[in-house]
Amino acid sequence: MYKTAKKIVRKESEQMYALMEKLYPICRSITGNGVRKSLQILKEIVPLEVHEVPTGTVVFDWTVPKEWNINDAWLKGPKGNRIVDFRNSNLHVLNYSTPIDQEITFGELKEHIFTLPEQPQLIPYRTSYYDENWGFCMRHSKFKKLEAGTYHAYIDSSLEEGSLTYGELYIEGEEKEEVLISCHICHPSLCNDNLSGISAAIHLAQALLAKKNRYSYRFLFIPGTIGSITWLARNEQKLENIRHGLVLSCVGDAGNITYKKSRRGDAKIDHIVQKVLEDKNETYELRDFSPYGYDERQYCSPGINLPVGCFMRTPFGEFPEYHTSADNLDLADMDALEDTLSTLKQVVHVIENNQTYRNLNPKGEPNLGKRGLYKRVGGASDTEVDQMAILWTLNLCDGKHSLLDIAVRAEMPFDKIKRAAAVLYETGLLKEMN
Ligand code: ZN
Repeated sequence: MYKTAKKIVRKESEQMYALMEKLYPICRSITGNGVRKSLQILKEIVPLEVHEVPTGTVVFDWTVPKEWNINDAWLKGPKGNRIVDFRNSNLHVLNYSTPIDQEITFGELKEHIFTLPEQPQLIPYRTSYYDENWGFCMRHSKFKKLEAGTYHAYIDSSLEEGSLTYGELYIEGEEKEEVLISCHICHPSLCNDNLSGISAAIHLAQALLAKKNRYSYRFLFIPGTIGSITWLARNEQKLENIRHGLVLSCVGDAGNITYKKSRRGDAKIDHIVQKVLEDKNETYELRDFSPYGYDERQYCSPGINLPVGCFMRTPFGEFPEYHTSADNLDLADMDALEDTLSTLKQVVHVIENNQTYRNLNPKGEPNLGKRGLYKRVGGASDTEVDQMAILWTLNLCDGKHSLLDIAVRAEMPFDKIKRAAAVLYETGLLKEMN
């Protein structure tokens, strides 16, 4: 008897979670081997290109910083016991800490300890990228128990000339017009912010790689702020092709979807995401642009002004686990991951299918019976088309309204209008506009 090995087909949310689980232990930062290692893992799934930009490169008003790497870190108390250990959590070290191996008094040490008095059981996530410093982050409950005496601070890190690393995946479509999807990859062991964004982007990219697309898609896996500024500074000639864009962050928690509009406020992507969320019939939140947040700040800076919005569930800073050790794998919600990915796929579906047509029989309503269209209205067969969708589509297909415009005005789901347009197109009543 031979046992047939069953191929286990996992749900996409499980695959998304598995990727987050794999990336979770890695200590990432805005530069360094943690980012490289993470990108290598992503590269096993999609064919992304890894770029290295040398320290000192001027990018707009910024300069690519020195590269940071860390091997180990600990803090020993007066009795020689380890009070914090990098090996237990990479959040214990102030991200970008300079190296130290020194005995110091408790008074001196206190200046280099970061805690959350309001959340005493959690380790905070802190960084010091542009101001050279060293430090440890720890639970306030533990900090309160520390006694006076001599401590030994040890951080085996390096801050040297090197490079900034980012990943880029370009999926060529029929048109050179692009959709930009961007997520930050600089956070160490934190899940919702932003392993969820990375995982959603990778799985959306996989779906796009598996089919033919009208638009070209560009995925960026970059360190926050300096990464998007670096990419923009190096790729200004590509910006004119970007038609739509989304920054993905905090997309794995159980909260509702929140969409922050682009700076333009009425970009096509803003209307598309809003319509997709409306069609889902679930609670969502729409926010206007503000110059605070993730990399949409850079994509929407006045001299760039791309149509890029930010797609989130619970926004940063609004969930208690944000930037703490509680933003761990337990915060990831499987249904939310599934919902995030399916919503993003629907956004892409609308982007891809939002055609504009012209009614070739615009004088008076066309005779639908003559064309066998009444037979296809109503009933329960798969050829069914909604009569109102047909009438709205015929009425608004004047070469100026897109299918999205029609769906919004008719207050009908995009796919209902798309289906009506497909049927009308088949019967020769519509002509596609360019
Ligand atoms: Zn963050």
